[in-house]
Amino acid sequence: MIFVILTDSDKSKLNRNETTLLNSKGLRMKTLIIYFSLIFSFIAESKKIAIIGGGTAGTMAFNFLSVTDNEVHLFEARDELGGNARSVNVLNPKTNKRVSVDMGPLVFATGPWDLYLEVLDYFNVKGKDFYKFRGSIALWDMGNEQDPSFVTPKGNINYLKYLSRNDSIKNVVKVALALHKSYKDFKKGDLPPDTSIEQWLRRAKVNEKIARDILFPIFTSFHTARYDQRDEFAILPIMYTTTFRSPLTVKKLLASKPGIGSWIKMIGKEVNSNFKNGFIHLGKKVLSLSKLNNGKWVIYTNNNKQGEVFDSVIVSTHPHHAIEFLPKQELNNIMPLLSALHYHPTQGVLHNDHRYVLKNHKRFLNIIKRNDESLITTMNLGEIHRDMKGLFLTSGLNDDEIDAIEDRSTIFAKEKFYHPLYKTNFYHNTQKLREEASKIKGLSFAGGWTIVGEETQETATLSAYLAVRESISDTKKLDEFWLRKLTTLRKYLPQYE
Ligand SMILES: Cc1cc2nc3c(=O)[nH]c(=O)nc-3n(C[C@H](O)[C@H](O)[C@H](O)COP(=O)(O)OP(=O)(O)OC[C@H]3O[C@@H](n4cnc5c(N)ncnc54)[C@H](O)[C@@H]3O)c2cc1C
Repeated sequence: MIFVILTDSDKSKLNRNETTLLNSKGLRMKTLIIYFSLIFSFIAESKKIAIIGGGTAGTMAFNFLSVTDNEVHLFEARDELGGNARSVNVLNPKTNKRVSVDMGPLVFATGPWDLYLEVLDYFNVKGKDFYKFRGSIALWDMGNEQDPSFVTPKGNINYLKYLSRNDSIKNVVKVALALHKSYKDFKKGDLPPDTSIEQWLRRAKVNEKIARDILFPIFTSFHTARYDQRDEFAILPIMYTTTFRSPLTVKKLLASKPGIGSWIKMIGKEVNSNFKNGFIHLGKKVLSLSKLNNGKWVIYTNNNKQGEVFDSVIVSTHPHHAIEFLPKQELNNIMPLLSALHYHPTQGVLHNDHRYVLKNHKRFLNIIKRNDESLITTMNLGEIHRDMKGLFLTSGLNDDEIDAIEDRSTIFAKEKFYHPLYKTNFYHNTQKLREEASKIKGLSFAGGWTIVGEETQETATLSAYLAVRESISDTKKLDEFWLRKLTTLRKYLPQYE
């Protein structure tokens, strides 16, 4: 004989007929059936969920799920959480101070990163844990450091001396106004996501010479694109990463003192220690996935070739990694969309070779144009904080240039990454992907690229929340908890519901 005790809240889930039944005598059998169906419905609500990938998106998904009643397993191929968020700790020979440097995501700000900042605050990361700095820019041709093409202000108006080469103050003002216009369009948020750089330049009425020599290199410093491809590349991701704040305001940028990478690890560790049904599996690469007839998923990892069954799977890797393990036949609508989202390799080099920053005009972001118009970008980390003086983080270097740095100076760290190629159809493809994935039971995607087509710590965080909502049966408990803690979520959610 099995006795089932119903609590008041269980009982409140019964309808009126069922309650009458429950109260009447002689109907024990029927009552028991109701009891069982209720119990099974509670069991069904608790799912076994897999998160594939422990970068920002995967770790945030793990955190969000920790307030629900589900069993959650996070699989990360590397030996640590963080993904792109990778911090290294180095001794700066110039200042003799140990500093943490983020090799991947490094910069954020209030406004476009408010949700991320709220999550950090929830984990007790406060203002004292941030560096605050001004994000200035210097643009120059390789070999012509004495005569930079463009230098943004840094607290005084001397920068007017470094006007756009052979140009007038009028042109400098034009650049500042174009950057401001980009910021305003970003804030307004009504630009169609497939708007190309070329369309926007025309809409903003930017003079062609200024567009080519100054704005385009600034816009594409983190995105591989040639000027003759300006019609193929989208402007919106650029606004997200480069022009999200007005050059006419002095709003500061933020960086992490201990490193964004170490924050992600801290969040994973803290959540894991309090989450009874949460399990983080490091060094477990997902090799393949298969779908069962009952809609469940089997995950095979390098450590478990037998496979383990899950109700839902949140894929929080980049699309080019997802292609490697998702089942091609079962997901034949999704695979072409994933393959159409192109990523390209890039490498960050942390060094102390002064040739990649301007000496006379110290600025945070140095954009260096080679003769063939390809770009090298260097962040002068001393502009973030004096303890980092003399440390530079450069991307876009070729092997010969890296060897030359090694000969003259010290390389402290090198890290390889993948950057999305933001063609104008990137956003459209991600939308289509979400739409197709929503038709497949128990499958959702997280990662900044999945929602607005732009990857930042903010979009990775938001995407994790949306994917978590898709993966569970009842979002009430989840929303009740997180909408109370994270007010920015309330602003975002209506757009995606
Ligand atoms: C060089 C660089 C600079 C950036 N700068 C900024 C910045 O300043 N500010 C900002 O906000 N954003 C920045 N970004 C973007 C930011 O890094 C991303 O938005 C965010 O970190 C992506 O997180 P994610 O979890 O979606 O992906 P990832 O961080 O790539 O995480 C995916 C994880 O999945 C794991 N994985 C892959 N395949 C498998 C598998 N088969 N099995 C198990 N695990 C697997 C990977 O090991 C990885 O840990 C930058 C990105 C780069 C590359």
